[in-house]
Amino acid sequence: MINTLVWFAAGAALGAFLVQRRRQGASGLTLPGADAALLPDPALGWLAGARGALGVWVSHPVTDHDAPLRWSRVVPGERLSAAMVGDIEQRLTGCHREGSSGGTRLDSGTLLHASAGGLTAAVLLPTGAPADALQAASADLVALLDGLGRKPMLERAIEEGEGPTESLGSIGLRLAYQLERVLHSEVIVTAVVESQVRVIGTSGRADRRLLDAVADPGSALARVARGEDQPLTTITDPLGGVVPDRRIHVAPAIVLPIKSGDEAVGSVACWTGEEGMPIGGVIAEVQEALRNAGPRIARSRKLEELGQAASADPLTGLKNRRGLDDAMRRVGLTQGTLVYADFDKFKILNDTLGHHAGDAALVHFARIVHDQIRGGDTAARIGGEEFAIWLPGAPLVYGAKVADRIRVLLGTTTWDWQGRSWPLSISAGVAAVPDTTRSIENLAVLADAALAKAKQMGRNRIEVATPTAGG
Ligand code: GH3
Ligand code: MG
Ligand code: MG
Repeated sequence: MINTLVWFAAGAALGAFLVQRRRQGASGLTLPGADAALLPDPALGWLAGARGALGVWVSHPVTDHDAPLRWSRVVPGERLSAAMVGDIEQRLTGCHREGSSGGTRLDSGTLLHASAGGLTAAVLLPTGAPADALQAASADLVALLDGLGRKPMLERAIEEGEGPTESLGSIGLRLAYQLERVLHSEVIVTAVVESQVRVIGTSGRADRRLLDAVADPGSALARVARGEDQPLTTITDPLGGVVPDRRIHVAPAIVLPIKSGDEAVGSVACWTGEEGMPIGGVIAEVQEALRNAGPRIARSRKLEELGQAASADPLTGLKNRRGLDDAMRRVGLTQGTLVYADFDKFKILNDTLGHHAGDAALVHFARIVHDQIRGGDTAARIGGEEFAIWLPGAPLVYGAKVADRIRVLLGTTTWDWQGRSWPLSISAGVAAVPDTTRSIENLAVLADAALAKAKQMGRNRIEVATPTAGG
C-alpha cells in the first residue's frame, strides 16, 4: 500500500518541476519543441537520480491507435544496451495495453511499472534493491502519473500565472509604446471585448481621448480585429470617425491583426508616414510584439470575464456581496451613501405563490433598482431577498431620496404572477459618509441597524441611520 503522504509529497515535487520547466520555456531558455505534449525530462531525470534507477520511462499520450506506442526515457550513464531498452519497451507496451501495474524481475534489474489515465510509467531499479526502495519508486510512479494527469491544468495555471494582474489597459499601453518606438509612429491598439472592438492603448503621440473608444463595427480596426480582414492600409479613419473633432491624418494608416493562436483578439493602427509598410527587421520586431501581446490579451480578457462572473449575482444580474465590497473599497472616496433594502414578508409570498414566484419578484425589483441608479452607482443582491445600493459621492439626503423613490416605485408598479397580482414592498436603511459616520467601513452596520428600525416601525418605509458620536 502506498503511503499517501509520500504520494502527495512526490506529486508536489513533480508539480514544482513542471512549473519550473514551463517557466524556463516561457522565458525562452528552453522553449518546448515540436513535442510539447511530452513530459519535461527534468522530472524523469529527477526520479532516476532520486531512486538510483537504471532507467525511467513514460509513454506518450496515444493520439493514433495504429501507431506504435512512443516513450520518453531517461537512462542515466547509458548503462543499458539498446537491446535491453528495446526489450523493456516492448514489455511496457504490453503492460500499457493491459493497463496493469506491478513489478518484474529482469536480467537488467527490477522493472516497476504503473498505468493510469491512459499513460504508463516505469522505473528500472538495480537487481537486489531493498523493499523500501521498490516501494518508494512505486509511489513516485503513481505521483508521476498523477502529475501528468494534472499537467494540462498546471499549464493553464502557469499560463495564467504569467501575469494574472496584467490588465487589458496595461497590455494595450505597453504594446502601443513598444510599437511607437520601433515604428517611430503614432499607434492605437484595440481588443475585441464582449463583441465590441475597444481601444485599449494609445502611444505617446496618439490622441489619448481615443482610449476606451469603441471602433465603428465597419471600420478597418474593427474588421481586422475580428479577423474579417487581412492587414491593410487605409486613408480613412481606421476607427470609423468615432471621435468627431480628431485631427485628420494625411498619411495612410496601416492596420495589423493581433492574434492568440488562431483567434483574432485585436488590432493595431499605426501611421508610418513616408516609410510605408514596415519591412525587414522592423516587421520582425512588430510581429514579435504582436505575437507576444495576443495571448496576454486573450488571457486578461478571460480573467476580466471571470472576475465579473465572480462579482455578479446570477439571478438578478446585479453585483453580489463581493462586487459591492470591491466598489466600496475604491480609494479616495470621502462621500457616499449606502442603502440596505429587505423585502417585507417575503416568506408569505414564497409560501403562497412558490419559490419561482419569489425569484421572479427579486428580478422585478432588481430591474427597478437598476433603472433608478446612475452609471457610477452599484446595486447588489447581498442575501436571499436583501439588496444594497452604493451611491458614491452622494450625500445622505440624496441617497435617502433614491431609496424612497425605489420603495414607492416597487409598491406602485403592479407585479403579478400567473395572472394573480401581489403587493410587493421593501424596507430600507440608509447611512452615509460623512453624514452619519466618518468611515466607509462603518456604513454596513449602520445601514443594517437603520433597516432593522424600518422593520420595527412597521415596514414599507425608509429609515436613516443615526449619526455616530465621534466617528
Ligand atoms: P421581513 O419583513 O421581516 O423581512 O419578513 P421576511 O418574510 O422577508 O423575513 P426574512 O427577511 O427573514 O426572510 C426572507 C425569506 O426570503 C426567507 C426565504 O424563504 C426567502 N428567500 C431568501 N432567499 C430567496 C431566494 O433566493 N428566492 C426566493 N424565492 N426566496 C428567498
Ligand atoms: Mg425580508
Ligand atoms: Mg431578509
